[in-house]
Amino acid sequence: MTTNASSLPAKTGKVYLVGAGPGDPGLITLRGKYLLEHAEVVVYDYLANPKLLGYVPKDAQLIYAGKKGGGLHAFTQEGINRLLVDHAKRGQMVVRLKGGDPFIFGRGAEEIEELVAEGIDFEVVPGVTSATAAATYAGIPITHREYTASVAFVTGHEDPTKKFSNISWDKLATAAGTIVVYMGIKTLPSITRKLIDHGRSPDTPVAVVRWASTPQQRSVVGTLATICEVVQQADIKPPALIIVGEVVKLRSTIDWFEKRPLFGRRIVVTRTREQASDLVAQLEEQGAEVLEYSTIHIEPMDDCRVVDAAIAEIGSYQWLLFTSINAVTHFFRRLFALGHDSRLLAGIKIAVVGRATADEVGKYGVKPDLLPEKFTGEGLAEALLQTGVQGSRILLPRALRASELLPEMLTDAGAQVTIAPVYRNVPPPGPKEELRDQLLEGSIDLVTFTSSSTVTNFLALIDAADDGELHRLLDRAAIAAIGPITAETIREHGLPVDIQPERYTIGDMVQAIVAHYRNLAPQAG
Ligand code: SAH
Repeated sequence: MTTNASSLPAKTGKVYLVGAGPGDPGLITLRGKYLLEHAEVVVYDYLANPKLLGYVPKDAQLIYAGKKGGGLHAFTQEGINRLLVDHAKRGQMVVRLKGGDPFIFGRGAEEIEELVAEGIDFEVVPGVTSATAAATYAGIPITHREYTASVAFVTGHEDPTKKFSNISWDKLATAAGTIVVYMGIKTLPSITRKLIDHGRSPDTPVAVVRWASTPQQRSVVGTLATICEVVQQADIKPPALIIVGEVVKLRSTIDWFEKRPLFGRRIVVTRTREQASDLVAQLEEQGAEVLEYSTIHIEPMDDCRVVDAAIAEIGSYQWLLFTSINAVTHFFRRLFALGHDSRLLAGIKIAVVGRATADEVGKYGVKPDLLPEKFTGEGLAEALLQTGVQGSRILLPRALRASELLPEMLTDAGAQVTIAPVYRNVPPPGPKEELRDQLLEGSIDLVTFTSSSTVTNFLALIDAADDGELHRLLDRAAIAAIGPITAETIREHGLPVDIQPERYTIGDMVQAIVAHYRNLAPQAG
């Protein structure tokens, strides 16, 4: 019997119901992250942090399933169930990403029941539920030997079609030491009344925590008698949790998350290749919400004639120089596109600017002949000059625009340098409007600059038409510069520098920012 494609068993799909955790993307499980990294389809909720989608492979399909309280559902529950079944039946690996834990007020079971009915394979990955996260991030231990030995998780929003409540408020009121209510903001008045009516003291402390574990977290405290008023005054809206019990008293001692020095501050970081992640991590550690803008975006050149011609007569060159990782990547891309491989470079000497570039060249099976002691363009030029370059032909594949120092030094020494652009820096297709809007409405506290090029890049990004607009955009945000040269560049554009550390390191800059905000009056709210 012959086998043909149609008689082969179909690739079977599987659905992974994954808890995304409460909000902070760092609170997903390792298993959850692994599954996202291997997903073909991700169906995600309103409460799952969209930053987690950064783990998903680029070619995977992302489907927003909505579900924001108040009827803004992108899909009905039946629609979501159908979606999961359909994709799994196509043989796909589907991750169903849900806020918190999928089986705690997450309707996870309903989705699984549908999969079981259809004979579809599944797995469930628990998540940190928002109740424990909200308590922890509001400085409230959910249990405590002196105050409570029991916790109840209840919903404040029962199925509206149900005639009778499944919750015995009469028993619950005094039975559980700590009561945590999900989805209870709208029904808070009736919840507090039922608890008091059934015997819980009106003086029982209550905390309400919104957007727990995120930079937007807000929490307020009151008692069963006062909390409705407090919540109304503070205008706390869903998603929020209500924590009822004596443990709420410990908040005054344990509160840590909202006490971090930069909590509630929104700070812009303009990315340079290496530094940005370090700066972002240190600012976040201090509690800031960081908006990271990458302004450097690399694209191959459309016009490759210069490099193609050089490759065609590579035998006439004595040296091939690489001054960046990108240059290596894009030079070899061209070499391969023209049908060659690394052996074409057998007769030519190769010099690189530094260790990282050397490692990159190594990936193509090539070992550089020269690595300067000083890892700069100037260092590379000096090292080459010592080998005696007069009369040599040197090929320099690089960015379309780059420093001319290296080729000039070599030309001055009598070498013939061919500059072959292989890539260019372009402004990324980015959320420019969003950044401009946030600056205009004053919701950005601080813009940080770690080099003159971050200043130039940032200004290109916000794209002010003239000085007047530039001031309107930046008047409400403070500006931090890492050192005097960066500060000078900022002032050249007519902008003030509010924060500048004495020593020019990321750590010192973060300390200077913290000191700046410590000296300001404490924030309202
Ligand atoms: N499965 C989720 C709960 C979904 S029900 C979990 O385990 O956490 C939705 C409710 O969860 C919201 O109305 C709110 O009460 C609560 N919630 C979810 N995330 C929250 C957050 N980051 N901060 C405060 N409450 C949150």
